[in-house]
Amino acid sequence: MLNKKTVRDVDVNNKKVLVRCDFNVPLDVNDKSLITNDKRIIESMKTINYLVENGAKVILCSHIGKHKEMLSLAPVAKRLSELLGKEVPLLVDVIGENVKAEIDKMVTGDVVLLDNVRKFKEEEENDENFSEELASLAEIYVNDAFGTAHRAHASTVGVTKHLPAYAGFLIEKELDALDKGINSPKRPLVAIIGGAKVSSKISVLTELLNKVDTLLIGGGMAFTFIKAQGGKIGTSLCEEDRLEEALGILNKAKGKNVKVLITQDVYAADDYSNDANKILAKSDDIPDGYMGLDIGPKTLEAFGEEVSKAGTVVWNGPVGVAEFSNFANGTNSIAKLLADSSAISIIGGGDSAAAVIKAGYEDKMNHISTGGGASLEFMEGKILPGIAALLDK
Ligand code: AMP
Repeated sequence: MLNKKTVRDVDVNNKKVLVRCDFNVPLDVNDKSLITNDKRIIESMKTINYLVENGAKVILCSHIGKHKEMLSLAPVAKRLSELLGKEVPLLVDVIGENVKAEIDKMVTGDVVLLDNVRKFKEEEENDENFSEELASLAEIYVNDAFGTAHRAHASTVGVTKHLPAYAGFLIEKELDALDKGINSPKRPLVAIIGGAKVSSKISVLTELLNKVDTLLIGGGMAFTFIKAQGGKIGTSLCEEDRLEEALGILNKAKGKNVKVLITQDVYAADDYSNDANKILAKSDDIPDGYMGLDIGPKTLEAFGEEVSKAGTVVWNGPVGVAEFSNFANGTNSIAKLLADSSAISIIGGGDSAAAVIKAGYEDKMNHISTGGGASLEFMEGKILPGIAALLDK
C-alpha cells in the first residue's frame, strides 16, 4: 500500500494544480505528429478527470523524448482534447510571464498543457531556480508520472520543495500492483527476465532471488550465464567482465532454493540482421560465427511449463531480438503464454509491454506498467525519488 498522500487527501476546488504526467509516448518515426501508442495518456486520464470534476485548474506538465530532440507535445495536446471533449491548449513555454498570464485566465475545470519540460536542460539537472519557477505556477502539485518516478528532476522532485505534493491515481495503481506482485504474491512467483545486458539487470536479478520461486532467464543476457558455465556461445552477446557475477547469481539461487532455467536452445544467426541465415542450436553449443537471437522451442516449452504452474508471473525484457520479425517468436510466444495463463501477470514496461500491446493481449494482463526503468528499480528494492518526495500519509 502506498504510504503517501494522494489527490483524494486535498481540496482542489478552484486551486491551480500542477500535474506531472508521463506523456513520453512513442511517435511515428516518419511523422512526429502521430502517436503510435497512447497508453500513457489513457492511464493519466483518471487523475485528470478527477481534478476537472473537483473544480481544479489543471496545469499538465510532461517531457517527451530527450532534451536534444526538442520534441513538441502538440500531438499529446490534441489527443487530450479528444479524450476530454474540450480543448487542451499547449502553452508556448514551461515557465515565465507568458505562461503565468495564460494560467491567470483559467477557470475551474480548465486544463492546459505546458511545453515539453525537457526542452530546458535545467529539468534533468533538478535546478533550484527552475524548480521554484515551475512551482510558482500552481498551489498544489500532483505527481502521476510513474514512468519518470525513478528520476530526481525539477518537475518530479525539485518542485516538491515549494508545493504540497500528492500522488495521482496512476502512481497509486502502479505501486499497488508491483508491490503486491513482488512483495506479497500468489505463489509460486515466477520471474521472466530478458533483455540485452546482465550488467543492467544484476541488481534486479540479485534482489529477485530473495522473492521468487522460479527465475527464467532469456534474451541476450542468458549467454553470459551460459558461457560462465563453460558453454560455447559463438558470437552471441556476452559480457566477459560479468562471468563471475553470473556464476555468483546461480550459486546464490541454489542456496536460496530458487529454480533457475536459462535458455536451452536458440535460433542463431550468422549476422545481426533480420534476414541472416537462421539455424536452431543448443545454447551451449552454438557454431562459430553464429549468435543466438531468440529462444528455441525446447526453451519455450520449459518456460511454458513453469508459467502454467505459476500463481504470479513478472516479466521484464524481451527473450530475443523482438525488433527483428524473424527473431520475435520467443517474445511473442511468452506474451501469449501469459495471456492464456491463469496466473496474475505483471509486465514491467518497456519492450515487453510493447510486445504484449502489439500482440493485442493488453486486456488479458493484470498489470502492464507504464514505466520500464521505474518498475525495474522498484523490483530492485530501490526507493523511487519522485515518490519519496511526496507527502507522507
Ligand atoms: P533491455 O533494455 O536490457 O531490456 O534490452 C532490450 C534489448 O535486448 C532489445 O532491444 C532486444 O533486441 C535485445 N535482445 C534481446 N535478446 C537478445 C539477443 N539474444 N541478442 C542480442 N540482443 C538481444
